[in-house]
Amino acid sequence: MTSLKRILVTGGAGFLGSHLCERLVGQGHDVICLDNFFTSQKSNVAHLLQQPNFELIRHDITLPIWLEVDEIYNLACPAAPGHYQYNPIKTMKTSVMGAINVLGMAKRCRAKVLQASTSEVYGDPEVHPQPETYRGAVNPIGPRACYDEGKRAAETLFMDYHRRNGVNIRIVRIFNTYGPRMHPFDGRVISNFIRQALQGEELTIYGDGSQTRSFCYRDDMVEGIIRAMNAPDDFTGPVNLGNPEEFTIRELAELVIELTGSRSKMAFRPPLPDDPARRQPDITLARQRLGWSPTVPLREGLRRTIEWFRSIDISHYRPPTPHY
Ligand code: NAD
Ligand code: UDP
Repeated sequence: MTSLKRILVTGGAGFLGSHLCERLVGQGHDVICLDNFFTSQKSNVAHLLQQPNFELIRHDITLPIWLEVDEIYNLACPAAPGHYQYNPIKTMKTSVMGAINVLGMAKRCRAKVLQASTSEVYGDPEVHPQPETYRGAVNPIGPRACYDEGKRAAETLFMDYHRRNGVNIRIVRIFNTYGPRMHPFDGRVISNFIRQALQGEELTIYGDGSQTRSFCYRDDMVEGIIRAMNAPDDFTGPVNLGNPEEFTIRELAELVIELTGSRSKMAFRPPLPDDPARRQPDITLARQRLGWSPTVPLREGLRRTIEWFRSIDISHYRPPTPHY
């Protein structure tokens, strides 16, 4: 039986955060969800508001906050390229100052703290698939750098607080994850393709569609994140979490068209700058140390995601606020 804890989830109203909160509330923990709603909306956690063990705080993680907690999952950060490039300086601040604030809290409370890092720390990788030992090829001055370098700096801060101050940390490197509650206008490939296919629009492919990604369904990812938090204390990570099944973007477009039964065609657009040509996680470490591997194949995960996209009223969603 797990002992009940007070757990802070920053970015808890987001796509992954809201599912994580749901799981932790279901396990009986006392959950504090902190979010500034930059890329999410309250409706993602509205169903949890009636639960006595759930609390919602509107707060920006770049500013300090004083809470007493046992565990922190640090997910606060815009994650989709369109979102994190919207205000790149704020993205960097969120990663770096957010990490400093949660690490300071963890140090004071002797709490365990997990960082949601990313496969973007590998940049446009020359090593394939990517193991945790690969140090990456990030362009430090490109349009993706605000996110990639912000997340790399956050990993540095986590390791230094651990070595210098004995803070109990976990770092997970999350690879492309999708599922219900993705923001329909986040510009990520799966949300774009499903929205376009359902609305009978052309599916926009950047470049020739030969670039690859490996897509993980959100339930598998949330399970991996929780396992990493509960791993033995000598296992700090970084550990890759993702589904190693690799697809070209063109194959993904064909699959979405097939599964939605859409008549949409593909439209090829100029390639994006610094777009990684291929990406696939080596999850040997996660298998060995967390006993974790994904269970939901892309076809099944897409089916569930398409069903959710069909059920929502898209007019209730908006792009990021201009006041951010
Ligand atoms: P998301 O955009 O849905 O969630 C991020 C949440 O953080 C949102 O609710 C947003 O409002 C909040 N937020 C942003 N800036 C904030 C700030 N300054 N203060 C407080 N809250 C803030 O994205 P997601 O896909 O759920 O990603 C969650 C985490 O996982 C992020 O840290 C992201 O970098 C990481 N990650 C996700 C993926 C993926 O494929 N989904 C891949 C790699 C890493
Ligand atoms: N992509 C695309 N069409 C879209 C959105 C994205 O072809 O409408 C491509 C994009 O160029 C990239 C891949 O899909 O090669 C994944 O993009 P996404 O923004 O989902 O995530 P990331 O690049 O961060 O992995």
